[in-house]
Amino acid sequence: DISSADIRGYKGHDMLAPFTAGWQTTDVDPLVIQKSEGSYVYDINGKKYLDALAGLWCTALGGNEPRLVAAATKQLNQLPFYHSFWNRTTKPSLDLATELLDLFTANKMAKAFFTNSGSEANDTQVKLVWYYNNALGRPDKKKFIARIKSYHGSTLISASLSGLPALHQKFDLPAPFVLHTDCPHYWRYHLPGETEEEFSTRLANNLENLILKEGPETIAAFIAEPVMGAGGVIPPPATYFDKIQAIVKKYDILFIADEVICGFGRLGTTFGCEKYNIKPDLVSVAKALSSGYMPIGAVLVSPEVSDVINSQSNKLGTFSHGFTYSGHPVSCVVALETLKIYKERNIIEQVNRISPKFQEGLKAFSDSPIVGETRGTGLLHGTEFTDNKSPNDPFPPEWGIGAYFGAQCEKYGMLVRVAGDNIMMSPPYILSLKEIDELIVKYGKALKDTEKRVEE
Ligand code: PLP
Repeated sequence: DISSADIRGYKGHDMLAPFTAGWQTTDVDPLVIQKSEGSYVYDINGKKYLDALAGLWCTALGGNEPRLVAAATKQLNQLPFYHSFWNRTTKPSLDLATELLDLFTANKMAKAFFTNSGSEANDTQVKLVWYYNNALGRPDKKKFIARIKSYHGSTLISASLSGLPALHQKFDLPAPFVLHTDCPHYWRYHLPGETEEEFSTRLANNLENLILKEGPETIAAFIAEPVMGAGGVIPPPATYFDKIQAIVKKYDILFIADEVICGFGRLGTTFGCEKYNIKPDLVSVAKALSSGYMPIGAVLVSPEVSDVINSQSNKLGTFSHGFTYSGHPVSCVVALETLKIYKERNIIEQVNRISPKFQEGLKAFSDSPIVGETRGTGLLHGTEFTDNKSPNDPFPPEWGIGAYFGAQCEKYGMLVRVAGDNIMMSPPYILSLKEIDELIVKYGKALKDTEKRVEE
């Protein structure tokens, strides 16, 4: 058993743990972070940690980008706040909408709506889709299909869309209009002898069967992360999104791409949709949009959807939805400056230059007897600890193997995301090759300690 001082925020196998830090840390000594610098953060005692999760999958430009601070300061001096209601708005909000619509090229997007977070973006998606179907005179087409192990947020509706049991248990969730289909994790769920393509075909068939069972006239939208993030970093198997999109299209179901983690370069493409040839009707973004420096999220809406909403709004009434801080001018200028820096510094090239070393360095640990699978793409990586290299032989939860690994990383000065026996990393894009070496050395040391613990 591990003492509570050892495991700190990594306690337990609850996927929710890191999202409820405020509650979880009341009974243990919290790690208090005080300062950040490049790819590192420092705690209140001055100890330095390589921030292998970029805060919470978001600080892509690292800890102390002065241009973002300057942009925020200038805006705070000029106009710290104005809202975006009743046809009033601010220049930063308009400029950011234009910039985002230009940047997303996987499918044409016509409108942007700002939120404060990814959860609010996904809640907004649900209301937009319902409004759209009401405008088309089909109010019964209102169910959503999401995937087991997805993460879409923690408000009532975005938690319902999420496919992690901990987000539903004890909350009377998911809401009844949300259905969940298969998780596309080939290693864990493929049948003996099944190829990735065959696995994808089976999952697409299962999706079609679910749609037919419920009645296609009742299914409004399908939502997916291009690469599943908080569920364990799960890239899609070959041909998965081609086959899923064909089914969704066949039944006139909208496709919502949740790009909250994958967007803005994380996978080595501007958006995950480009990488997997996804042509969504709606897109959610947040996190790296502002490099995490200010809270902001957005929903992008295709012209097909926004035209219906706009043309029908007289009959149905306006789309009555919005937040006080939607399009907050300080968040918007920070996001604008972030996107400018991504462009100037050729961030996509940078991610593609450094990610092979990151991925290959971590893949080398797949020989470890306690590593079931290592997986990832771009600057996103997941490790799953299991016994006998098998997805069917988890370590006993009370051993706390993932938690122990996380605690060892912390000891060596590195912060990762732990959920059960899954370890996840999404380092800042500014990571140097030397820092990747450091990340791999620290990961290797923590792994050696964890192997020893399992042997004992
Ligand atoms: N969607 C995805 C894919 C996420 O990873 C997250 C957060 O981790 C969210 C939505 C929710 O975003 P937020 O925490 O900003 O509400």
